[in-house]
Parts: sequence; C-alpha cells; structure tokens
Amino acid sequence: MRPSVILLSLSLFGFSLFASTLFACAASGDRAAAAPAASQAKLAAAAAAAEAKLAAAAAAAERSAAEAFAARVSAASRTAALPPALADTLLLAARSERAALAAEIDSALSGDPFLVRLVDKKTALPADYAPADLVPLSGGSYIAGRAGMLLREAAARSLEAMAAAAHADGISLVVSSAYRSYAYQQTVRARVEAELGEAAADRESARAGQSQHQLGLAVDFGSIDDSFAETSAAAWLTANASRRGWSLSYPKGLETVTGYRWESWHYRYLGTAAAALAQKRFGGVQQYALEFLDAWGRGSR
Ligand SMILES: [Zn+2]
Repeated sequence: MRPSVILLSLSLFGFSLFASTLFACAASGDRAAAAPAASQAKLAAAAAAAEAKLAAAAAAAERSAAEAFAARVSAASRTAALPPALADTLLLAARSERAALAAEIDSALSGDPFLVRLVDKKTALPADYAPADLVPLSGGSYIAGRAGMLLREAAARSLEAMAAAAHADGISLVVSSAYRSYAYQQTVRARVEAELGEAAADRESARAGQSQHQLGLAVDFGSIDDSFAETSAAAWLTANASRRGWSLSYPKGLETVTGYRWESWHYRYLGTAAAALAQKRFGGVQQYALEFLDAWGRGSR
C-alpha cells in the first residue's frame, strides 16, 4: 500500500470512528428517541460514501502499481534491445499475469548475482576476478575429459545431478572444459587468433575478461565442435538442461545478438530460477534474459 493510501485509510478510519461515536451517543439515553431519523440516515450515507472512496482509492493504487510494473518491463525490454515480438509478449504477460512474472523475475535475481551476471563482448569481468568456491571436477556420473578441471561448487553439484539424470536416460555427458582463469583465457584466445586470424577468432573465442568460463559457471561438452550437435548428448541437453538450471549460451542463428557463432556444446549454469525464466519468457535465449535482468536490476538501484 502506498503512503497516500495509508493516510487516506487512516483519515477515513478516523471519520468512521467519529461518526459511530456520534451515532452511539445519539442512540444512548433518552435523547435517542428524539434523534431525528433523517440525521441517522445522513450518517449512514456518509459512512457508505467514505467506504466507497476508500475502495476507489485502493483500485486506483492497484491500477497505478500495474501500470508501473508494465512500464518497468517495457523499459527493461528496451534497454535489453529485445526483438519487438518478444517485448510485446512480455508486456502482455506483465499486464495479464503480473504477480507470476514479478515472482519469476524476483526469484531469478534473488540468488548469487554472478549467476545472472552479464559477461559478453560489451561487459567484461575484471582481470583479477576469480570465484572463491571452485571445486575439482572428478567425474561421477559424467566423464571428465581431462584432469584438473574446476567449477564453482553449486555448478559442479548441479552438473553431477544433471549427468546422473542423463545417465539414467542412457546418455553419457563428457565434460571437456570448465573454469578458465583470465590468464588462461588469454593463452586460449592467442592460440585461436594465431590459427584463424583476428576476425574469425572473434566469432568463436572470447577475449580475456569476456569469457563465461572465467565465472566458473560454464561448461563445454563433448567434442567442442559442430559435430557435437549431432550427438544424443546434445539432443538430451537441448531437451533437459534448462529444467536443471543450465542454458545454451550461443544458440544457432543469433550471432548478432550473442556476439558468437553457434556453439552447441557451451552451456552456462544460471540456477534453476533464471534458467526457467530464460526458457519460459525469452524463448530460451540466455542473452536476452540476462540483458533484461541486468536492465531490471539497474532500474532498482
Ligand atoms: Zn565454452
């Protein structure tokens, strides 16, 4: 409830007290009989009018809260440069299911902020950023493609659970790359650039600071090339990863949005709330969801 509505409620409540006291006085003692019926009717009418005013004020407050929410959704959609059709659908949801959408957004933003932190060609991590809770990937239900890989604890735990579910479906997940430090990404990028040239390297290899791998929340599966898309593991991830908190970072045909060509093997752990939001409200495009959440978060600061 907004302060103006609270004030109005309080003053109307005061008025009702005053009116009912008058009424009680009038009704007590001998003078009760003498009280003119007309003035009692007047009091009742005043009380009814006060109640109607209160209801109207509450309805106006509700309308303005709905409008404010829709306006904030529109503003974040614009900042995130969502495609018009997606922005329209989101605005429709903002109007027709405000409580649900608000809860989904709050839930996506309620956890560790690094889970939804934008890391892309426009927004880099500091060179000295390294997660504090990296744990080794020893391989349980998945195959660790090489030794010494690390992920943040929550991502490692979720990866194991996801791999166990895949395993139960007869699918083996092979983890080929996980956390990369800023310095290590520098060497990876230099190697790719030496091999392909700068322009081609820009399409598939992040510069140091711009890699999701530095978050300790991203994993490359399998062959780390386009042949992975043809595997049953890729199909399983496409169907199941988002429900388990993981999201494909660079989908097919969205290079102008994500900055990178299609990488069927690169998944980022967003947590279940943000991954569900990306899937349900942003067509599974992580970049749209993260840019929207980033804009939403900045709107509240
Ligand atoms: Zn990757």
